Amino acid sequence: TRAAPIIEIARLTAHYGDFQALFGVDMRLGVGETIAIIGANGAGKTTLMRTIAGIVSASSGTIQLDGRPITALSAPEIVMAGVAMVPEGRKLFPSLSVEENLLIGAYARKAAGDWTLDAVYGLFPILRERRNSPGTALSGGQQQMVAIGRALMSNPRVLLCDEISLGLAPVVIRDIYAAVPKIKASGTSIVVVEQDVGQALQIADRVYCMMEGRVTLEGSPADLSRAAIHDAYFGVS
Ligand code: ATP
Repeated sequence: TRAAPIIEIARLTAHYGDFQALFGVDMRLGVGETIAIIGANGAGKTTLMRTIAGIVSASSGTIQLDGRPITALSAPEIVMAGVAMVPEGRKLFPSLSVEENLLIGAYARKAAGDWTLDAVYGLFPILRERRNSPGTALSGGQQQMVAIGRALMSNPRVLLCDEISLGLAPVVIRDIYAAVPKIKASGTSIVVVEQDVGQALQIADRVYCMMEGRVTLEGSPADLSRAAIHDAYFGVS
C-alpha cells in the first residue's frame, strides 16, 4: 500500500498569457518521499514548481496539500501552509550576510520544527564558517546551500528544489545532494527538478518525466528502462 500523499496534483493546467505551459498534469508526492522531475528545456518543470508554490496561478485542476486544496492560495499563504521553494538561480539577498539570508527564511516559520540556524549549519558546516560573509562573497555552491537552508528555515513539510545543481562543479553537486537524505530524515518530503537524469535516478524514490507541458513517464528508478526514459524525454519519433 502506498503512503497517503502530502501533495496531490490533478489535471493541472497553467498559462502565461495565451501560451499554455501545462496540460493536465497529474502528480503525487508521498509523505517522506523524494520525487524528481526530469525533462528537456521548456518541458514545463519550472512552471509546475511555480504553480505549486503559487507564483504562477493554475488555470484549472487542483493541487492538494495533505488533502486540503491550496490551488487558490497566494505564494506567502502556501509557504505558511508548509511548502517552501528553492528557486532556480538561488535568488539570495546579495547585501545581506549568510546568516541574515537564512533568518529571512524563518520569517514564514509557523509550525514547530527542527530547522534552526544550528541545524542548517549542521547540514552545511561551511555556512557556519561563512555566516558573516555577504551573499556575493560566496561560491555558487555555497550560495545554493544558503538557498536550501533559507527554505528549510520555514520548517517546510514539502521542499521544492528547482535545478539545484545548475552550473555547479560535480564535486559541489555531490556535496549538495548529500544533504537530501538528511533533509528527508527530518520528515520533509522533497521534489527536485533535475536536468541530469543520472542524478535524478540516484536521488529519487520516483521519477516523473515531462515533455511539452505533460507528464510522459512516471515510475521508480528500478522500473524505468533507459529506452523508456529516452522516449519520454525526447518523444518517440
Ligand atoms: P528549463 O529547464 O529551461 O527551465 P522547464 O522545463 O523548467 O525548462 P519552463 O521554464 O516551465 O520549462 O517553461 C515551459 C514553457 O513555458 C516554455 O515554452 C517557456 O518558453 C514558457 N515560459 C516559461 N516562463 C514564461 C514566461 N514568464 N512567459 C511566457 N512563457 C514562459
